[in-house]
Amino acid sequence: MTDKQVPRDPSSKMTRRELLKALGGLGLAALLPGAARGAALQEFDITNVDPLRAYPYRGWESLYRDQFGWDRVVRSTHSANCTGSCSWKVFVKDGVMLREEQAADFPRLSAELPDYNPRGCQKGACYVEYVYGAQRVKYPLIRAGERGEGKWRRVSWDEALTYIAEKVVDNIYQHGPDTNTFFTVIPAMSPVSFSAGVRLAHYIGGVVCSFYDWYCDLPPGEPITWGVQTESCECADWFNAKYIVLWGSNINETRIPDAHFAWEARYNGAKVVCVSPDYNGSAIHCDQYLRVNPGTDALLALAVCRWLIENDRFDKAYVKEQTDLPLFVRADTGAFLRAADLPENQRGEAPKVAGWDEKLAHSGVTSATTPVGATPQATDPNALFYVFDQKTKSIRQAPGSMGSPAHSLDLGDADPALEGTWPVWLADGKQIEVTTVFSRLKASLAAPAYSLADASRTCGIPENDLLEFAKGFTRKPAMIIHGAGTNHWFHNDLMNRAMILVVALTGNVGKNGGGFNHYVGQERIWPEHGFKMLAFPQGAPKQRFQNTTLWTYCHSQNRDPHPVAGKPIEHYILESVRNGWMPLWPKNDWAALTPEQLHDLPRKPRALFVWRANYLNQAKGHEAILKSLWKDLDLIVDVNFRMDTTALYSDVVLPASTFYEKTDINSTDCHSFMHPFSKVLDPLFESKTDWDIFGALAKKIEEVVKRRALAPFNDEPLGWVRDLANLYDSWSAEGALATDEQAANFILSNSAETKGMTYHNIQVAPRRFVGIDPDTWNSEIEPGRAYTPFTHQVEMKRPWRTLTGRQQFYVDHPWYLELGEQLPVHKPPVEDTQFPLYWNTPHGRWSIHSTWRDNRYLLRLQRGLPIVYMHPDDARARGIADNDWVRIHNDQGEAVAPVNVRPNEKRGRLTMYHGWERFLGFQKGGWQSLTYIKIKPTQLIGKYGHLNFKLNYWGPTGNNRDIRVEIEKYTGPIETFAAQG
Ligand code: SF4
Repeated sequence: MTDKQVPRDPSSKMTRRELLKALGGLGLAALLPGAARGAALQEFDITNVDPLRAYPYRGWESLYRDQFGWDRVVRSTHSANCTGSCSWKVFVKDGVMLREEQAADFPRLSAELPDYNPRGCQKGACYVEYVYGAQRVKYPLIRAGERGEGKWRRVSWDEALTYIAEKVVDNIYQHGPDTNTFFTVIPAMSPVSFSAGVRLAHYIGGVVCSFYDWYCDLPPGEPITWGVQTESCECADWFNAKYIVLWGSNINETRIPDAHFAWEARYNGAKVVCVSPDYNGSAIHCDQYLRVNPGTDALLALAVCRWLIENDRFDKAYVKEQTDLPLFVRADTGAFLRAADLPENQRGEAPKVAGWDEKLAHSGVTSATTPVGATPQATDPNALFYVFDQKTKSIRQAPGSMGSPAHSLDLGDADPALEGTWPVWLADGKQIEVTTVFSRLKASLAAPAYSLADASRTCGIPENDLLEFAKGFTRKPAMIIHGAGTNHWFHNDLMNRAMILVVALTGNVGKNGGGFNHYVGQERIWPEHGFKMLAFPQGAPKQRFQNTTLWTYCHSQNRDPHPVAGKPIEHYILESVRNGWMPLWPKNDWAALTPEQLHDLPRKPRALFVWRANYLNQAKGHEAILKSLWKDLDLIVDVNFRMDTTALYSDVVLPASTFYEKTDINSTDCHSFMHPFSKVLDPLFESKTDWDIFGALAKKIEEVVKRRALAPFNDEPLGWVRDLANLYDSWSAEGALATDEQAANFILSNSAETKGMTYHNIQVAPRRFVGIDPDTWNSEIEPGRAYTPFTHQVEMKRPWRTLTGRQQFYVDHPWYLELGEQLPVHKPPVEDTQFPLYWNTPHGRWSIHSTWRDNRYLLRLQRGLPIVYMHPDDARARGIADNDWVRIHNDQGEAVAPVNVRPNEKRGRLTMYHGWERFLGFQKGGWQSLTYIKIKPTQLIGKYGHLNFKLNYWGPTGNNRDIRVEIEKYTGPIETFAAQG
């Protein structure tokens, strides 16, 4: 009907169309169903319409009018690997969670520092949407079609658990316990939920996979240089800085609760610089912006180092005491000069200095446990190193190394030389020449590439800007806030080491407001001791651990086409596994295998459990995994509150409670407080907490074992006869850990950091940690002082946790020497020149990884579909216009999505913020369809001083930045959301 055909009452002043328009303006028209709308309009005297009075169905309005009323308010938080650890109040009315609001009750650290309130982000502000959302998994489901087809059968808990338990028991007794694999992430964000499943894995001999290295959140330069996983200051310490460099870290978009500290630091005299290829939401607020070329960050950092050294703007006293730069290196082999090289009577003596632990004992600080050092009691001549003392003109032992009896960095009366060459006679009578790490570093940096002029060209930064940037590091304290933007490159270890060198040369590490502070992932759990006791009660030696990058690469058809030093990476992997440097489960006869057989091993994993994670969606080499690993697994179980990609491609989906229906605790490296998750409501629908789910599974496995009358399983390699007929008793500590609250209290009461805290008393408000365990931490928690790492080392001369006992920039492992990476150097990205554009998939503003990617409010803030961003010049060259559908492709696969052409994107690069579920609007593929796994040999080493495999601490990272693609306009058919159902 056209306007002209609308019947008009002769006395009326308003047409029906006009009335509908009026109702629509008030948001009411849509509420009327079609027929009712017609009938209602017939009855209205539309000459005198007051829709608010005349409209008869007004009962719903109280929901809107009273939305700010509530019956109860309960404290909780979120567990999405956001690093936020924000405290929220959830409002309940009539048994329904209505909304959440920031609690804003973090106690203030000091009057001198801004506080943590209010703390939150826009994702957390709409989490309640998930509680009742369409994505919610409400009942146990067993697959009724092909994996990923979306056909499910609703089953009882008993049927689902029996199905899983039968297969788990089959695997243990027929194929070996190491064929059951468990993947979950980030204990810091909810350690009880994390421990629920890994504790079960522990008691049944299963393999527990890493996450922090697999997600490439681990900065490998930290274990290499400092011997730690990651050590960062809490974010309030940013305020103490005078020079802040946001290096690959877009704090305004990915560190939303904490970004204010950096901007507030400017009121305290700080200058803030952003180093990033794209002009992003943080860059616009900075004092200086360096639009660096992708993958050139190590070069930029090393050019700064050269300038600092050449211009004598580095901290010599600090470098001599705190770094390995004065240590001797042999000219003949490139290895450190060790005591074992020298005649026994010329190995010298350690300086007579007080140990750091004695200093700690007299310092008045309140470490909650007795300090114990990592230094071995006996002197190990392979871990004893030398310097040239300029005062006595003699060669002297460097204190503090792993083999040194001097448990301190205190140099006593010595003054180590930084440069020079000296003759040394070895135990075999041979004379060699030694020099220092510093001399070698200077020689390395003398290469033309590291001059400001050359670096300016390679990095794409004007030379004057580069000079200004380098000078900035002479403002003290200076800190680098480091993010995934740089850490996700193949050569991330080199980039980390180069950046750490900048802040170490300038004496900024171990000082408030200074250092290299990496915030990618909520990696560090503060109450670590209690957590480990809960998760792995028999200790690490009785647990099978696995680096997930290696596991996924070898058990799938992922293939890195780039040889390293002429050899395929499989060569290095097999050697590493044979040497016992890296584990690879299930166990195979490694000596009998060839590198080519690594992708088709006789023993393969058979079952995979995923909880608190979206393994498949976030997996590099996604297409290869679907075609291989996913086909080999005969049981995939996903424990989830929402139907994500991993759930969709699983065999069994178990309904987990949401963040607001669980009992747990939460901490982050961004602040120094503990606070709880609480059951705002008991788990809705048929969901259960992770603790209850894995407890029920333990009972079910026990039941199956008893029904089959199976004898205890002799797990010989671990020396453990597993009585699975009493599994639940073991798992629940005979009932002492039957509930999640008991588990939370167990962690709190067994950790120095949370002494005196209970699950009950942290309900009142977040509580600051009360002390630290010096076995795991490197600084104290002190009243009024923001936590910053490594004050033990700098203030109390505690040796660093490295082979040399110092910040170690020189690594003399044979593979590092072979690959020319004994010192930090710049290496260009691993390129595939056939494809011209970088494929950049950074963390974004509108989701935490894949969580909230499907949230309707957040989708409204974007274009509602997975979007690829590109520079106008790149678009023009390919005849692509804004909002076109495009096909992105390379040798790994393809993805089809709409494009957003924007000038702040870097030329030569495409960006798609990561986390989009495969089913969220791609016409083909997904953002991981273009990626593959690349393993760096330097991250496969072990049995080298401090570099030994440790879950989430040391192992190859699943990097993803060096990917190249091409893009073209997509002209195929477009299936709409409606058509997709
Ligand atoms: S999602 Fe994370 S950052 Fe956002 S409010 Fe929740 S805890 Fe804070």
